[in-house]
Amino acid sequence: MTQSQVAQRSENVATQADYPGSLFVVAAPSGAGKSSLVKALLELDTRVHPTVSHTTRTPRGQEKHGREYFFISNAEFDAMVGNRAFIEWANVHGNRYGTAQKAVEDRILQGADVVLEIDFQGAMQIKEVFANAVLIFILPPSLEELRSRLERRGEDKPDVIELRMRNACVEMAQAEKFDYVIINEVFERAVFDLKSVVHSQRLRYRAQQRARADVFNALGIDA
Ligand code: GDP
Ligand code: ADP
Ligand code: 5GP
Repeated sequence: MTQSQVAQRSENVATQADYPGSLFVVAAPSGAGKSSLVKALLELDTRVHPTVSHTTRTPRGQEKHGREYFFISNAEFDAMVGNRAFIEWANVHGNRYGTAQKAVEDRILQGADVVLEIDFQGAMQIKEVFANAVLIFILPPSLEELRSRLERRGEDKPDVIELRMRNACVEMAQAEKFDYVIINEVFERAVFDLKSVVHSQRLRYRAQQRARADVFNALGIDA
């Protein structure tokens, strides 16, 4: 998405302060463990909902249209960009990926928590549109471990791994743009950290006031 498209989108979307649900954005260099961590979070916490992105890449193995992604053509993607259907989109490793605005906004308006597992560029765009989005960056414990996870996953050829390692260094240098950083060394610990970020968001004043209006009313707070 260009800067002016992002600015236009910001004007069209109401401030997230009005939404009862939270929007979590998890990004990481490829291989840091983002997908594994988000999967574990979703299994532990049924109040967090994923969204299904649109992509121009072709399905791998067992992937199913509408489950992992909506697999669409370049022309269909262009049409969605033209219709301003995406809240963010980016070119990642040679394919385009985008998050539909409806999938996010309708849900957080209804009070659900939504997690986006998207690339670094997409995370930056979301921050401009939803100032209250909670941005979480996953770091590997070391470059050596990142490389060995990419190798062990066995999905990428050596030249692709080199490219991903280079991109990882560029992205990690900008980790300060995120609200939270989780180091995925011991997996269970990292899952707990991710769960803690989600949990702390639910303890914020406005969230508690909404969720526990009974207690607030009984105590005569901010009636
Ligand atoms: P919510 O679902 O986010 O509203 O919050 P929960 O209270 O269900 O989530 C907190 C979870 O973290 C619970 O399962 C706690 O038992 C767990 N927990 C709390 N403190 C610790 C800790 O120090 N270590 C670990 N591993 N788990 C903890
Ligand atoms: P991403 O979605 O960030 O590209 P994945 O979730 O696919 O990363 O994880 C990359 C590989 O590393 C996978 O093979 C996964 O099983 C493994 N992995 C994830 N977290 C850990 C961890 N804490 N320790 C060891 N291996 C891990
Ligand atoms: P994969 O093709 O391996 O599933 O995903 C490649 C990369 O695209 C990952 O970094 C993933 O997080 C990112 N991605 C997936 N969906 C979206 C999306 O909707 N928007 C953006 N910006 N990135 C996405």
